[in-house]
Amino acid sequence: MARYNREAVATIRVLDDHLINKIAAGEVVARPASVVKELLENSLDAGARRIEIEMESGGVSLLRITDDGHGMAEDEALLALSRHATSKLATEQDLDDIRTLGFRGEALPSIAAVSRLEIRTRPRAAQGGTRIAVVGGKVHETRPVGTTVGTTIVVRELFFNTPARLKFLRSESTETRHIIETVTEAILGHPGVSFKLSVEGRAPILSSPGTGKLFDAMVAVFGPATARAMLALAPRQHPELPYSVSGYVSRPDVNRATRNAFHLYVNGRPVQLPQLARAVADSYHAYLPRGRWPVAVLFVQAAAWAVDVNVHPQKLEVRLHQPERLAGLLGAAVKDALSGERRPETVQPAGSPRAPEPPAEWTPARPRPVLPYLPPPAAMRPNLVSQPATPATHSTPSSPFDSEDPIEPLQPLFSRGVPATGADWEGMALLGQVFRTFVVGVAGDQLYFIDQHTAHERVLYEENVEKMARRALETQPLLLPVTVECPRRAEKELEDAVALLTLHGFECDVFSGGTLVVKTVPVMERGIDVREVMRELLEEATGSGPIEERREKVARMVSCKAAVKSGDTLSEMEMKTLVRDLARTKNPLRCPHGRPVLLQFGQDELKKLFERNW
Ligand code: ADP
Ligand code: MG
Repeated sequence: MARYNREAVATIRVLDDHLINKIAAGEVVARPASVVKELLENSLDAGARRIEIEMESGGVSLLRITDDGHGMAEDEALLALSRHATSKLATEQDLDDIRTLGFRGEALPSIAAVSRLEIRTRPRAAQGGTRIAVVGGKVHETRPVGTTVGTTIVVRELFFNTPARLKFLRSESTETRHIIETVTEAILGHPGVSFKLSVEGRAPILSSPGTGKLFDAMVAVFGPATARAMLALAPRQHPELPYSVSGYVSRPDVNRATRNAFHLYVNGRPVQLPQLARAVADSYHAYLPRGRWPVAVLFVQAAAWAVDVNVHPQKLEVRLHQPERLAGLLGAAVKDALSGERRPETVQPAGSPRAPEPPAEWTPARPRPVLPYLPPPAAMRPNLVSQPATPATHSTPSSPFDSEDPIEPLQPLFSRGVPATGADWEGMALLGQVFRTFVVGVAGDQLYFIDQHTAHERVLYEENVEKMARRALETQPLLLPVTVECPRRAEKELEDAVALLTLHGFECDVFSGGTLVVKTVPVMERGIDVREVMRELLEEATGSGPIEERREKVARMVSCKAAVKSGDTLSEMEMKTLVRDLARTKNPLRCPHGRPVLLQFGQDELKKLFERNW
């Protein structure tokens, strides 16, 4: 039994509000990013359409959040600073049907208790606004000010009066990263609101247009390439469950080493629910190497009675009714989206409608029909049983090629058209190009379709890797060096990435503040948008994965960018060169990302499809 200090327990008192707020701040305001989260929620609850976030020194010296929401009158603003003052709940029943992000009435008083806080606010109806200054929870000054409609909250010197908390904060860059993460979550959760985040007074590092389109929000957060690689979930509902699910998941070849790009919302609230995240990752099954996570933006709409949001002081978790069944629903929706991705099959079975033509632009309503996706090489899937034995040479990943294994038995879904061994390259006569996407050839009784992009990717990839090994990669200087701003990245991280990219022919200088100046690029047949390619390359070159993995990804991306695209018209000569070069590669059947390069149809199979049995 614990022994109490009698003196200490002798007098029990009710703590005063000031102390209560400071204690509550310990729970609600764990770090600068928690302040941002609470203030963003308040702005969103106030109906804001534009929200600007400014921060300095990891959010500790300054956080300023400006919104164009409905604002507050002076008395409301003063009331908002007192504990459990909220405009969002009135009765106990309201607690069972929470439609706002905030409801506890704790955030403002908690933040005010541990900082120097300033509120400037003006409701729509009023002529002027109010400015309130609070230091460590005590109101110092209230006076009228001229200001625009909406609210600005400035938080200075966070934790100045709680030195223990201050000491537990991580480095400035870590705290900044948490804030970026928080704003990212808000952007994806609220595509109809425009957000801007700027650090240290520089140009915004995150900026969303607030068009209401999730696609635009995803472009703002992930960049255009990743956004285009996202597959829509067909909205799903279960007749017996109080849930519906919707959102986007990435094509399996677009994945991350951490769960950072995994975003899950329950009734518009970003939450961490490992069980659901796991269910989604499991749906990728063999299509994601172990330890990799998909990019995902998923929304669960739950009946109010089925979700308890009042279980976590920072509202990071929620409690759900029958979570395992919801996980099943979500998993099934993801599987569907992924198999839709793989569905555009090679030959349509008799009588079925043709697959739609790929639309020119990405349409959020349905997944873009893209090339069928093949499982990654077995070497990347150590978690699968009954893999064919791999020759010993393939287990030493000293060069990217060694990690690729011979063609493995294909799953039934992909059996049609994919050759089991190789093509008869020697005997192949080229018939021409179709759909400005495929080169068609015939040899003996076999008809071949070659995807011009994946084929070229394969050729360039092997060439580049080989040249790099011989240190014979040719580069070309840029007439005008291209500047790329990447203020979100730490300098050390950038320098590592630049060292890697230099190997691939992209020579750059790193300047302070995260500015890169690109001086040379590898010699390529087609023009590239250096700035865009650099951004995507940096994405691949940074991160926590092992260096070989990053090097490999950069190599794949460089060949992808330099390769001819679907839509490029090829001359006869170009087709011949492409097929000849492809025939010489070590693995002509798949592109470096694992997609098929070549499909093959036998005369017999065609005859069968035409029901010719003579
Ligand atoms: P809660 O959000 O749980 O109600 P808070 O302490 O975060 O509690 O905010 C208290 C009250 O202050 C809110 O209920 C709201 O009425 C008002 N308020 C806070 N921030 C804003 C804002 N940006 N715009 C308008 N009203 C706000
Ligand atoms: Mg709030």
